[in-house]
Amino acid sequence: MEFKTIIEPFKIKSVEPIFLSTEREREEYLRLAHFNPFLLRSVHVTIDFLTDSGTSAMSSEQWAGMMRGDESYAGAQSWERLEAEVKSLTGYPYVIPTHQGRAAERILYGHLGGNGKTFISNTHFDTTRANIEFSGAEAIDIPCKQAEDHESDYPFKGNMDTAKLDALLKQYGKDRIGAVILTVTNNTGGGQPVSMTNAREVSTLCKKHGVMFVIDCCRIAENAYYIRHREKGFESTSYRDIAVEMFSLADGAVMSAKKDALVNMGGFMALKNQELATACTNLLIITEGFATYGGLSGRDMEAMAIGLREVFEDGYLKYRVKSTAYLGERIRAKGIPVMYPIGGHAVYVDAGLLYPHIPAHEYPGQALVCELYRIGGVRAVEIGSVMFGKYDAQGKLIPAPMELVRLAIPRRVYTQSHIDYVIEVFDEISNSRSAVKGLKIVKEPQFLRHFTAHFEKL
Ligand SMILES: *Cc1c(COP(=O)(O)O)cnc(C)c1O
Repeated sequence: MEFKTIIEPFKIKSVEPIFLSTEREREEYLRLAHFNPFLLRSVHVTIDFLTDSGTSAMSSEQWAGMMRGDESYAGAQSWERLEAEVKSLTGYPYVIPTHQGRAAERILYGHLGGNGKTFISNTHFDTTRANIEFSGAEAIDIPCKQAEDHESDYPFKGNMDTAKLDALLKQYGKDRIGAVILTVTNNTGGGQPVSMTNAREVSTLCKKHGVMFVIDCCRIAENAYYIRHREKGFESTSYRDIAVEMFSLADGAVMSAKKDALVNMGGFMALKNQELATACTNLLIITEGFATYGGLSGRDMEAMAIGLREVFEDGYLKYRVKSTAYLGERIRAKGIPVMYPIGGHAVYVDAGLLYPHIPAHEYPGQALVCELYRIGGVRAVEIGSVMFGKYDAQGKLIPAPMELVRLAIPRRVYTQSHIDYVIEVFDEISNSRSAVKGLKIVKEPQFLRHFTAHFEKL
């Protein structure tokens, strides 16, 4: 029989203490962090939902792999294991290891980009956009229309708008396009999945126009879960085979292994084209390391190879997706506006709707992340006008399309009672919503300002 209760499909072998603090102490920590949770000390955080990136708990198999790690400079066995795993998963013949996703992005998009080039994506993740823009190229997001409607339960809100893609490819022409990037799942767009049908359409259009198609595959296992359970024709396909099929549609992939490879550090790119792979390898050697380690230890590569297998296990993916939905559904039931349906790795709260009295230039999302910390020691991240806002020529803020706050769930780290605690914190968030005030930025860097900006309360 199928039980209603979905248990964590693991037992705990090693534990880490959690820091508890009083509201008074947290107010002080927040002030010292200039109201930017990125600047908090982790020991001052009770539940850390800042990111699901690099925060996974590794399995006993992965830890055993760490001991087997071959630390030879060149041609290490751990590299051979990783390369074989990535080749068999992606089907691409050239694998280039990097210390994390953005290193692969800088190399690949730096090479394909530059002044006058354009990249098109369902939604560029922040580091993807930053690397593209840093090269001098432009990055255009074309999410599908359903992505805007928070209440719609459209099953694949991560899809790309393929009619727009066709029009843009016609308008720009092959020579101006750096690449078309499909981010699965669509992290910035709410962790929403992309359908196989959509990936096929994107693939067909890229082939028709002769442009490169890259998959940002950070969460391709979570995406495969949704395809199997929501898209016709995949009911009996394994999660891994679904991923294999999606890779077969593209020319290359970039991965931050800190997500669905279940490790704390790592990344890679995998490519079909030999010439491009050679150019990227040359760039890799300048800043990351030799072609068979790219800034990683042998043990990191060993753990990645094992994680890339474990992440496709049925029990793991079911627990992963259902436990994230558990948090989202319960706070939604309390009247907290969340992006719906709940995505795989995170719950996205619409702070613009939660705090309608705070305008975009007073950063409602930043106000919510500060409240979550102040009330419950919960650390989350703003994904709104702090992260994606721009200034026009007059220095006026051009807000992001949505003022979101992401509660990203680390993989295999928290148990249900931790999640129940967070659900309770939202009772107070809800009760005190009308009294919350916005913030202003008092210090910011030019790129990726959300990491280091300083704020003051209004
Ligand atoms: C995390 C992430 C990246 C960047 O990877 P890092 O390992 O953090 O450098 C790129 N794209 C997406 C979709 C991501 O989630």
